[in-house]
Amino acid sequence: MPNVNRTNRRLTTAMWRGLRLRCPVCGQGRLFRNWIAMHSHCDHCGLKYERAPGYFLGSIYFNYGATTILVVAAFLVFFFTEIVPQSTAFAVLLAFSLLFPVWFFRYARSFWMAFDHFYDPVSRTPGTDATKRADGRAAP
Ligand SMILES: [Zn+2]
Repeated sequence: MPNVNRTNRRLTTAMWRGLRLRCPVCGQGRLFRNWIAMHSHCDHCGLKYERAPGYFLGSIYFNYGATTILVVAAFLVFFFTEIVPQSTAFAVLLAFSLLFPVWFFRYARSFWMAFDHFYDPVSRTPGTDATKRADGRAAP
């Protein structure tokens, strides 16, 4: 079994796994079985995806942040270039701010998990199903 802590220590690797919607520890298992439903565990390494109840609330920060950055950037482009009338720009940005978070939901969760496992990795005991965090606490 490879040392999963060493293979997951680069932020670029973690974010690449997040972009591909893959397990943040091994990079092989898929996070989602369809557009909405997640697998509970990695089918490759057995990692339990939801570390604790409410764990995925952290993904809201990623979803909100990405939506805000894109809407503000588009607003500034619309405002300073005046390529479309102001009412059209408002309608486009409103629609975008409602639809983008729905589409980005899976990526927000995936990036959240990649970020969380990068800064608080789990270590696995070879030959067992037990996992614990790198600081010795038991993973839920
Ligand atoms: Zn895995």
